Amino acid sequence: MIDEIMKKGKPENVENAIRKLFERLGRRKISTKPADLFSYSHDYWLVTFHWLLQGRVPALPDAVLWPESRDDVVEILNVAYEEGVPVYPYGGGSGVLGGTVPEYGGIVVDMKRMRSIDIHEEDLILEAETGVNGHYLEEYLNRRGYTLGHIPQSLYPSTLGGWIATKAIGQFSTRYGGIEHMLLGLEAVIPPGKVIELKPHPRTATGPDLRKLFIGSEGIFGIITKAWLRIWPYPEERFLMSFASESFEDALDSARRILRRGARPAVLRIYDRIETKRHFYRFDEMYGRIGTVIIVEGDSKIAEAEKAVVEEEFRGTPAGEEPVRHWLETRFVVKEVSEFAPLGVVIDTIEVAVNWSNAAKLYYSTVDAMKSVKGVLFASAHASHFYPQGVCFYFTFAGIPPRGTRPAEFYNRVWETAMRATLENGGTISHHHGIGRHRAKWLAEELDGAYGLLKRIKHAVDERGIMNPGNMGV
Ligand SMILES: Cc1cc2nc3c(=O)[nH]c(=O)nc-3n(C[C@H](O)[C@H](O)[C@H](O)COP(=O)(O)OP(=O)(O)OC[C@H]3O[C@@H](n4cnc5c(N)ncnc54)[C@H](O)[C@@H]3O)c2cc1C
Repeated sequence: MIDEIMKKGKPENVENAIRKLFERLGRRKISTKPADLFSYSHDYWLVTFHWLLQGRVPALPDAVLWPESRDDVVEILNVAYEEGVPVYPYGGGSGVLGGTVPEYGGIVVDMKRMRSIDIHEEDLILEAETGVNGHYLEEYLNRRGYTLGHIPQSLYPSTLGGWIATKAIGQFSTRYGGIEHMLLGLEAVIPPGKVIELKPHPRTATGPDLRKLFIGSEGIFGIITKAWLRIWPYPEERFLMSFASESFEDALDSARRILRRGARPAVLRIYDRIETKRHFYRFDEMYGRIGTVIIVEGDSKIAEAEKAVVEEEFRGTPAGEEPVRHWLETRFVVKEVSEFAPLGVVIDTIEVAVNWSNAAKLYYSTVDAMKSVKGVLFASAHASHFYPQGVCFYFTFAGIPPRGTRPAEFYNRVWETAMRATLENGGTISHHHGIGRHRAKWLAEELDGAYGLLKRIKHAVDERGIMNPGNMGV
C-alpha cells in the first residue's frame, strides 16, 4: 500500500468520468496504469523528492490524459465539469513548488502531444501549441535563424505552456525579458470546455488585458493550448565579459548604472563570495572576490555600443572570456540536489525580487536569517535578473536537519525565515518560480486585499472549482 502524503480523498464521480473519457477519446489518450499514475504524482518540489526517497508519494491521480488537439482538451474539460472531477494541467513537471501534485485526485492532463510550431517570418511571430518542449522549440527557431530568447535553466525538461502558466524567465532575460514580454496572444480552454482566443497584435487597447489573466495562472483557470510569441533574428554578434569586484554592493551598483543608461546585456549574473568560489574556483582573478559574468548580444552595432557602456560602468577587474565560457558550459548542471538528498542533505533555492533601494538590505537579512536556522551549513545568493528598478536574488541554502527534526520540518523552517526576511525588507516572495502548493501560505500576506479578488476571479471562471484545486491556496 502506497502512503499518499497530501491526498484529500477520491473524487466521487471519477470512475464515471474516466469511463466517459475512454469512450470519447479512445484508449491511446488515457491511462490508469499504476506506473503512469505514479509518474504524475509529483514535480521537482524538493519535499516531494524527499518523500519519494522514503517510499512515499505526494498524491496519485486517478487517470492521466494526453490530448492531441484543442478539441480533445474541450472534451476533457466538458467531462470533468459534468462530473465535478479535478483537472491538473501538466507540462514538463519541472515546477519546483508542487504545482502539478494531484492533491484531490482526479485527472492529470499532460500536454506534450500538442507540439506543433509555425513561424510568421515577416511579423516576427511564433505560433506554437503549448505542450512543445522548450529545448526543441528554441532549436527549431535557431535552425531557421531566429531565437525566442527564453532560456531557463530548465530548458530541457519544461514546456511552453508551463512557462506561461508559471510566468517563467530565462537566463538571457535582461535583453529579451520574461515570458510575459514575449507573449502576444493565446488560446485557452476553460470549464466547461469553452475556447478563449486572444489574438496576437503588436499592441491592443481593448479593455483589461485578459492575456495576463493566464500568465502565472498555474492551471487554476483553464488549460492554455496555443500561444503566439515575439521572436528575434538570431544574434549577429556576441561579446563575453567577466569581472571580479571587491564587494557585492560594488558589482550590484555597476549593474544598476548599466541598466539606468539603457544598455541591456542579455546575460548579467553577479555571484556573492560563496557562490563565486563554488562556480569559479579555478579562475585565480575571481577567487575570494565577487564574480560577474556578462553576455552582450544582438545587432553588431548595437552590441558594440552596449559593450562600451558595460566597460565604462563596471567597477571591477576585467577577468576575460573564460569564466563566461565556463558558465555557458555548466549552466544546465543541477546534479547537487539529487546527489546530496540521499545523503540526508537538504539543498534548495529561493528566488525573490526587490527594488534597488532595498536590495543590499534584503540580501544580507535573508542570508543571515537562513544561516540562523539550526542545521544550515551555508546560505548564499547570486543576482540573476536585472531591471532599471531592481534585481532578482536567487538564494541557495544547504543543511542537515538537526537530530529529531524531519527534513520537511527543517526545510519549512528555512523557507519561513527567508520569506519573512523578504517581506520585511520590501521584496516580493517570488520572482519566477511562482507559488504552487508550497508558497501558497505566504501569498495572502503578499497580495493583501488582492488575494480576495484572486479568489473571486477563480470562482467566476471555474465555478465548480475543478481546475488544479488547492494550487496557490485557491
Ligand atoms: C533544474 C531546474 C531549473 C529551473 N530553472 C528555471 C529558470 O531558469 N527559470 C524559471 O522561470 N523557472 C525555472 N525552473 C522552474 C520550472 O522549470 C518552471 O516553472 C517551468 O516554467 C515549468 O514548466 P513545465 O512545463 O515543467 O510546467 P509544469 O511543472 O508541468 O507545471 C507548472 C504549473 O503550470 C501549470 N501548467 C502547465 N502547463 C499548463 C498549460 N498548458 N495550461 C495551463 N497550466 C499549465 C501546471 O498545472 C502547474 O501549476 C527550474 C526548475 C528546475 C527543476
